[in-house]
Amino acid sequence: MPFAARPASARKTGFAQRFLIVAAVGLFGAAAAVGMVSQNVAEPMPTVEHIAQTLPLPQPLQASPDSSLSDLYIFEERIQQGDSVASMLSRLGVRDGELQRFLVQDSGARSIYKLYPGRAVQVATDDSGQLQWMRYVHTPGTESDGKVVQQLLEVLRTPEGFVAEEQSIPAERHIKVGVGTIRSSLFGATDAAGVPYHITLQMVDILSSDIDFFRDLRSGDQFRVVYETYTSNGMNTRAGRVLALEFVNNGKAHQAVWFDPEQAGASGGYYAFDGSSNRRAFLRVPLEFTRVSSGFGLRRHPVLNTMRGHKGIDYAAPTGTPIRATADGVVESVGSQRGYGNTIVLKHHGKYTTLYAHMSRFAKGVSRGSKVSQGDVIGYVGATGMATGPHLHYEFRVAGNPIDPQSADIPVARSLEGDMLQRFHAHAATFQGHLAMLTALQVDQEALRDSEQAALEVSGEAGAS
Ligand SMILES: [Zn+2]
Repeated sequence: MPFAARPASARKTGFAQRFLIVAAVGLFGAAAAVGMVSQNVAEPMPTVEHIAQTLPLPQPLQASPDSSLSDLYIFEERIQQGDSVASMLSRLGVRDGELQRFLVQDSGARSIYKLYPGRAVQVATDDSGQLQWMRYVHTPGTESDGKVVQQLLEVLRTPEGFVAEEQSIPAERHIKVGVGTIRSSLFGATDAAGVPYHITLQMVDILSSDIDFFRDLRSGDQFRVVYETYTSNGMNTRAGRVLALEFVNNGKAHQAVWFDPEQAGASGGYYAFDGSSNRRAFLRVPLEFTRVSSGFGLRRHPVLNTMRGHKGIDYAAPTGTPIRATADGVVESVGSQRGYGNTIVLKHHGKYTTLYAHMSRFAKGVSRGSKVSQGDVIGYVGATGMATGPHLHYEFRVAGNPIDPQSADIPVARSLEGDMLQRFHAHAATFQGHLAMLTALQVDQEALRDSEQAALEVSGEAGAS
């Protein structure tokens, strides 16, 4: 049925493209879009902070007196798998015996021989085609003294011959936003919104005390996220940190804002708008959520059994998936138990214990009496004991009785207080404004999507008849 197939695929492409564009416009674009289509915003628009530092490209160490920058022609090539310095220079059209001798002989130019595929080499030649300088950003993003910097090798022609120098310059920080609605999987939605993988994993981690990303995700769940990225020479070098996040799961909104009190003895963390920490005493899920494990997605596979007539929660996951301690505690027992197979029981503060069964193996260093911290990997998913397939059987026990952790009265996290709380509110207000703008944007987007879909369905019907 070619008629039926065409509108469906056209809709898919259009939808994905629109999301990518929305992700790329950033806060300015979001503000503009909301301003155009949504007239009834009661509160004044929050000031949009543009925090990106704009830094010029590195200038040559010393400009040679008779060459002005405007006369230079700059070429750039990405390093390919299997490239050598010679093959790369030849792609750049550089044939300069003096340069080649210099690169072999000078110890300061050694980093040119560590070629990483995907990274860029730039050369500048003058009117006569003579090479003036060459730059290789071999380390596009690395942290130094809390700042993200790019490290590059610069080779410059001087009247005395070539000189080489390693340079370290700050990478540019950008604030980006992403919004999305989950249709089939979290990663499908974040990919469509252009949100990097590392940011998605952070989102999951930040809300891992609130949301069970294996069991709780629903089609129609929404996210809005403000995050940092770093670029150098216009290339993405690495994802930074999630700055603010809102996740609507099954109709309930969860928020988190990054806040660093910048005070001795206090470290940064994520807090809800009321100043309560997003980090609870217990994680919701004892498994690491990754692109692979999320393949089980919304298809209900993760749960083989729920609490009914069964003492725990079963998470289907590939063999070898890391299992994490859901809270700080001490190993009460580790070993093989009938039916349960390889099993670990952790004792936590108060009357809480947790049990992890069917493991393929235990993590190194886990033994009876050893201390574990929340999130530590204690073992790996398997199918030992009475298990029909690889899965984790997890029990949450209060005074020895297994209960559903979702219904449990789990100890709450600490909250910010006093002066710190006031400073947090001032800091969080900006992000509250950002998230509100993104919400408005998302409402418009959904409306547009629905009307487009309706139009496509109508035209689809017309084509078919
Ligand atoms: Zn079970």
